[in-house]
Amino acid sequence: MSQARKKAKIAIYWLGACGGCDSAIVDLGGSLLELAEKVEIVLWPAVLDFKYDRIRSLADNELALTIMSGCVRNSEHREMAELLRAKSRLVLACGACACFGGTPGLANLRQKGDIVSWVYGDAPTVVNPEGERPQPTCRVNGAELRLPAFYDHVHALHQVIEVDYYLPGCPPPVDLLLGAISALLSGKLPHRGSTLAPQKPLCDSCPRAASKPARLEIRTIHRCHEVEVDPTDCFLAKGVICLGPATRGGCGGTCLAANTPCRGCFGPVEGVRDAGARFLSSLAALIAPEDDEKLRELLEAIADPAGYGCRFTQPVSILGEQSCADDNEEE
Ligand code: SF4
Ligand code: SF4
Repeated sequence: MSQARKKAKIAIYWLGACGGCDSAIVDLGGSLLELAEKVEIVLWPAVLDFKYDRIRSLADNELALTIMSGCVRNSEHREMAELLRAKSRLVLACGACACFGGTPGLANLRQKGDIVSWVYGDAPTVVNPEGERPQPTCRVNGAELRLPAFYDHVHALHQVIEVDYYLPGCPPPVDLLLGAISALLSGKLPHRGSTLAPQKPLCDSCPRAASKPARLEIRTIHRCHEVEVDPTDCFLAKGVICLGPATRGGCGGTCLAANTPCRGCFGPVEGVRDAGARFLSSLAALIAPEDDEKLRELLEAIADPAGYGCRFTQPVSILGEQSCADDNEEE
């Protein structure tokens, strides 16, 4: 048997993804080259041209690991997720989209028909005088062409297949990514279903936390472009919504370092079912209006509560979670 055939086989695959998680893997740099020496990468569409038939020809469980990024939005995503699950001993949900549905999940706040109408008709940049819409099947020169069916909802990966481990972030930071891949390939694993990131909330490691008063009361709310917050000040203490108290730490505080509040891409801390609901309830406890009129002003200043609370997690939110089985593939 050749040396190459003895190497552990791995796949890296994107579903409904922007490619940022693949870029994070490329950012492993020298460590990626070392990894490539030790394993055989049999699928990585973002970087290398492999054919799906190669994956179909593998035995079940032949892949040591599949790293899957992106959400499940159409029938091709589901088909590939199920195929790779069958061929893999371990599946890592990589990035906020795979773990929670991610920013594409905000589309669940709209009806599928409204999204299609906007993208193919109503958006001011669209030129489509015939009102063409993509169809799951069509005939071109006598041949039948198929497009993936667009689902009614966006789904996180575990809502479609079994997931062994989770690595959140948008994208996941390189240090956690390298640690996760090394642990998964070496077999030094925490219990199945674990999130391979710290368990404590971001506030616990935030350098701005020192400026957060012990008893925080919010009397005004600003959007982050409306005020300039000193780089050492806690955003919440200045009335700028920051999801640090309800979000798992481990991101390295990249947004905070750029003077931008946390938006929650690491998802909820351990044991919390719904990051958005947790944040909104804790925010409600901190709001200290002087009277009903001030309370109304404060609530109206939160321009997009669902967008703030569920920016990365709507598909797994207790508010409107949808089963993939409910999706209609026929339209
Ligand atoms: S988690 Fe972020 S970086 Fe990764 S695919 Fe989704 S949007 Fe892109
Ligand atoms: S609320 Fe935001 S800025 Fe304040 S300590 Fe927590 S993470 Fe840091």
